[in-house]
Amino acid sequence: CGIVGYIGERDVVDVLLDGMRRMEYRGYDSAGMALLDGDRFEVVREIGRVAELEKVVLGRGLTGRLGIGHTRWATHGGVTVENAHPQSDGSGRFVLVHNGIIENYLDLKEELEAQGDQFLSQTDTEVVVHYLARLYSGDMLQALVELQKRLRGSYALVILRRDDPDGFFCVRRGSPLVLGSGEGENFCVSDVAALLPYTRKVLYLEEGDIAQVSRGGLRIWDEEGTVKVPPVHEVDWDV
Ligand code: GLU
Repeated sequence: CGIVGYIGERDVVDVLLDGMRRMEYRGYDSAGMALLDGDRFEVVREIGRVAELEKVVLGRGLTGRLGIGHTRWATHGGVTVENAHPQSDGSGRFVLVHNGIIENYLDLKEELEAQGDQFLSQTDTEVVVHYLARLYSGDMLQALVELQKRLRGSYALVILRRDDPDGFFCVRRGSPLVLGSGEGENFCVSDVAALLPYTRKVLYLEEGDIAQVSRGGLRIWDEEGTVKVPPVHEVDWDV
């Protein structure tokens, strides 16, 4: 339901929790986040309020500079910790958060199970991250171009790759996703409200757009993988 991704010099835990709180008005049933810490992910997921997640994350003393957060409104699979996001590919190479619904997830799941994949949740989202891991062979842009050819439905995805400490990728169709541009820090959120304390410079992703968000900048491509340069909008309202 709500998505925040951050790379920069601030404490990522603060940015993610703050952004998730600013999107609480949309409603949700569980919340989670993943941080990239050296060469491994720290993933925390809780049923209920962002405040519950906050207790656990702060209690464990987690901190970092790169991470993704999500508030979930369950559509596929009940309200359980296993079904909360981020979801992982199983090998620990990728984690992602997802807003939306993958209509053909059962077909994709069967295809992956035939290749030996095992699933830990009932979500459509976990199928997406497994599928991405299968498609990836060293080039995220290529993998996301291919992934989009297979997905039916609506999605905003923000993806961390264990071997990429400099940022993350996003892709969207049918669900909103907005990039926020800062100085030495960048953001990707599903709702501009989550950006307002940090930056007013926003870029709107269009249907099928793919983006790479890194410390030093933003790169954007269309669904075919052709470079795009969308306009930067200055947001001048408050929420
Ligand atoms: N379909 C996904 C799920 O049920 C994402 C739901 C959402 O948009 O929060 O986990």
